[in-house]
Amino acid sequence: MARRPRISRTVPALRRALAPWRDAGDRIALVPTMGALHDGHLALVKLARKKAERVVVSVFVNPAQFAPHEDFATYPRTFDRDLGLLQKLDVDMVWAPGVPDMYPEGFSTAVAPKGPALVGLEDKFRPHFFGGVATVVSKLLIQTGPDFAIFGQKDYQQLQVITRMAADLDITAKIIGAPTVREKDGLAMSSRNVYLSAEERQTAPTLNRVLRDVASKINAGRPVGASVKQGLAIIERAGFKVDYLEARHAQTLEPIASKKAGPIRLLVAAKLGKTRLIDNIGV
Ligand code: AMP
Repeated sequence: MARRPRISRTVPALRRALAPWRDAGDRIALVPTMGALHDGHLALVKLARKKAERVVVSVFVNPAQFAPHEDFATYPRTFDRDLGLLQKLDVDMVWAPGVPDMYPEGFSTAVAPKGPALVGLEDKFRPHFFGGVATVVSKLLIQTGPDFAIFGQKDYQQLQVITRMAADLDITAKIIGAPTVREKDGLAMSSRNVYLSAEERQTAPTLNRVLRDVASKINAGRPVGASVKQGLAIIERAGFKVDYLEARHAQTLEPIASKKAGPIRLLVAAKLGKTRLIDNIGV
């Protein structure tokens, strides 16, 4: 049985724990999470384990990326269970700061991403979100100084924002995007799936089914705009309130009208009852 991961709760404790590893020449991979771990997170951890001698998983529900009306207070927190899962994967360190450790009194600085953070997708519906993510992720990267940092393609716009931010701020960590892990019926795993009622859970895989259907239409040569429009109608008919379903350039996330203009990513966000789900696939 693997050893229990060490737990650091303050920045000085984290630095003290990491220093000998770095002195020994061990490479460090960081997996940032908000806890409530599922197999999607664990796939990132397994990839980290392959890349580096030392694996650090951060568990921090970041208040800066939730709007006042969002679910910060009720976001699932399952720290003891998370620890057990991380122990099985031989994780070396869990970095679990409290909110005052991350944002001490007087905290007055924020990272304000542009480019892929301002393309009218998640940013349109959660305007505070990428500022909060970019600020906390840059802090996590500075605190840990990893060789690799692993993020899920499940949050595709976030991955592009972080990749751009790391390049722009000369952060040396290599940012790695890992494929989305799904339930058997195609639903992308998410800590928020626990909010779904039994009936909503049955409907939820429609999102992924429609994405795959739209992708295959585009691949068969059908026009992008019309294929997306048909997909939108199906999702709405299934009972979702759609924030967006869009075809975008896979790197810039700018609108794209045809496959000739570059690689396409289909991205969707929609609410089922009170639960907001997102998904995306490559075409
Ligand atoms: P979260 O705890 O939701 O902030 O997610 C932490 C990391 O796990 C992010 O990089 C997410 O993109 C990634 N992640 C969440 N769900 C999945 C999934 N189903 N497959 C792959 N990665 C995921």
